[in-house]
Amino acid sequence: MTSTPHPPAQQAPVVVCQDVARTFGHGERAVVAVHGSTCEVLPGARTAIVGPSGSGKSTLLHIMSGLESPTSGAVTWPGLATDAERRGRQIGVVFQSPSLVPALTVVENAALPLVLAGVAEGETDERVRHALHLVDVHQLADQLPEELSGGQAQRVAVARVLAQRPDLILADEPTGQLDRASGQHLVDVLLATADEIGAALVVSTHDSEVAERLTLRWTMHEGRLLAQDTNVPAPPTHRDRVGVTPVSGARS
Ligand code: ADP
Ligand code: MG
Repeated sequence: MTSTPHPPAQQAPVVVCQDVARTFGHGERAVVAVHGSTCEVLPGARTAIVGPSGSGKSTLLHIMSGLESPTSGAVTWPGLATDAERRGRQIGVVFQSPSLVPALTVVENAALPLVLAGVAEGETDERVRHALHLVDVHQLADQLPEELSGGQAQRVAVARVLAQRPDLILADEPTGQLDRASGQHLVDVLLATADEIGAALVVSTHDSEVAERLTLRWTMHEGRLLAQDTNVPAPPTHRDRVGVTPVSGARS
């Protein structure tokens, strides 16, 4: 008698938003940045959040990161650690606005999450060096943020998240300050690294060429999450283009 194979276990979503809303300010000056929105990100998902400026993309990403609380509704991370401190290390955020620490060099900025997490010095150095190389800013390692262009600073912010090797990468307009070729390369790197470390990737963008590189597309308009569609699958070329090689400390 042959036994029936079990279906693959459904992995818990890394983040679930249940009717989350966020209002800024009070009374007549209140702005509803996000209206009741429900969504989830499964492990390994590749999701683009698209919509015009002011449509609520950053606010939704911040809510998914846990850095901002919803005014109503609930956000949970069933597939991540239950205590906030450990969970914080499992989520990497590339902020839209400048986020490097002005007093720290590029290499110190990129190493910061690992230093705070107590990762050994040798492994930190290796991961940071690899990440800075991937986004072509290794030659700027000893510069201060004030010496960088907007695009260089943005790439360092991406390197910081790549070195962190989180389970959920939330990148807010990561190509906003880059030319087309650099932007596409950065998307290659994000996709290849997410593949390598087994992370889910959510990228907000108003660039349709960037959005097309991801499998899922969420559309926001005036604070409402209107649609959650599947893109035509993008060809998996990013691995060849980036040439990501595993570094020590990679999760198996
Ligand atoms: P997007 O990232 O799509 O440009 P945001 O989430 O940044 O959109 O903003 C959505 C709306 O919420 C905008 O009208 C914006 O002005 C407002 N908003 C965002 N953050 C704040 C804040 N901290 N205080 C007041 N209003 C805010
Ligand atoms: Mg934004």
